[in-house]
Amino acid sequence: MPAEPAFVIVGASLAGAKAAETLREHGFEGAVVLIGAEDQYPYERPPLSKGYLLGKDGRDSIFPLADGWYAEHDVDLRLGQTVTSIDRAGHRVTLADGQAVPYDRLLITTGASPRRLNIPGGELDGVRYLRTVGDSEQLAGTLRGGGQVVIAGGGWIGLETAAAAREYGCEVTVVEPESGVLQRALGPELGEVFADLHRSHGVTFRFGEGLSEVTGSGGAVTGAITSSGEELPADTVIIAVGVLPNVGLAADAGLEVDNGIVVDEALRTSDPDIFAAGDVANALNTLVGRRIRVEHWGNALAGGPLAARSMLGQDVTYDWVPYFFSDQYDLGMETAGLPDPGSYDEVVYRGDKDSLEFISFWLADRVVVAGMNVNVWDVNEGIQALIRSGEPVDPDRLADPDVPLTDL
Ligand SMILES: Cc1cc2nc3c(=O)[nH]c(=O)nc-3n(C[C@H](O)[C@H](O)[C@H](O)COP(=O)(O)OP(=O)(O)OC[C@H]3O[C@@H](n4cnc5c(N)ncnc54)[C@H](O)[C@@H]3O)c2cc1C
Repeated sequence: MPAEPAFVIVGASLAGAKAAETLREHGFEGAVVLIGAEDQYPYERPPLSKGYLLGKDGRDSIFPLADGWYAEHDVDLRLGQTVTSIDRAGHRVTLADGQAVPYDRLLITTGASPRRLNIPGGELDGVRYLRTVGDSEQLAGTLRGGGQVVIAGGGWIGLETAAAAREYGCEVTVVEPESGVLQRALGPELGEVFADLHRSHGVTFRFGEGLSEVTGSGGAVTGAITSSGEELPADTVIIAVGVLPNVGLAADAGLEVDNGIVVDEALRTSDPDIFAAGDVANALNTLVGRRIRVEHWGNALAGGPLAARSMLGQDVTYDWVPYFFSDQYDLGMETAGLPDPGSYDEVVYRGDKDSLEFISFWLADRVVVAGMNVNVWDVNEGIQALIRSGEPVDPDRLADPDVPLTDL
């Protein structure tokens, strides 16, 4: 590399911004170019389905770095610019306006986009997706007016928007093809806790059904037809059926892509000068022992900086404990580990599940593989330490709130 190398980051959101910050924090003096398709300073998305959507938190709450930070740290932030191709041999990327930007090392943090539901009526006014700050503002405007809301998808975004819609006074029905909510994220035992929470706030569920059509009149939504053929009245239909990683650039450039951009434990792609992090990366996690693609805030927060250090030639390893949080109504929770079905054979509770103040642990052969603290705070690090240890624990002691997590 030249004495003053240029590092280019494609995708100016959380992972990209935190990578740029880390490069400067670690004394990198070469050029840092951060290119983002959105016409916004890099921002965090979790508030978009929570406090920001509800109008409780202002715009200032969504930015991980102050607007002035980029110029102060000589980061060439190019907003509203889409990278259209990567020329690996020539070591440069091309923007939509034809400009070429040379790089010595490149980081791809292009994130993910909502999976579209291509059903009749899917383009009607009143059908909403939620990914950007503009989407959140538009949705808030809609929900503020009340009315009937049908949500396709009982995952995190579906449930958080259901909670927000109820707080706005809307009537809410969630249509979910699986037999419960959050089945793939938490499994059936804890999924039911969240379904009950929403039922207690007046949300109706239609399990085992998908959305097959949106009906309308004069271009506006009037209803949603489920796979059972029934039409539910609706003013707003929120489509929350997951996201797809934005891999087009990487795939076109011939990088290895398989459910995301494939990277090793140092977040390096099949090209040694190109790295990937955040939602778009399918990364080898040495703690979990396999490649994982994580669509969570904590992964972008940890992965962007890790990739930056890897670009600097530091010896880094992606051994992060998967972490996720959610807020719905008065429930706040954090989850560590991956409690997906098939990964555990027992669930142990510490505290009262019905009072919604508890910790749940998912165990495989008595080893804690994941844990979730619900309305219990300052314990997630302890849960992460248990997961990291990989040692079997006594389930009775695990369930006993008088036994500190550090003594198990
Ligand atoms: C509404 C909402 C609520 C969420 N709530 C939570 C939560 O409670 N807890 C949690 O853990 N996680 C949550 N998440 C997930 C979390 O926000 C994501 O994991 C995180 O945003 C991923 O960051 P990222 O930087 O990898 O990608 P993204 O945030 O997806 O950003 C990628 C950026 O790259 C840009 N880009 C893409 N292609 C190009 C290109 N060719 N050229 C230039 N720029 C490009 C995109 O426009 C985008 O700005 C939520 C997500 C959403 C949408």
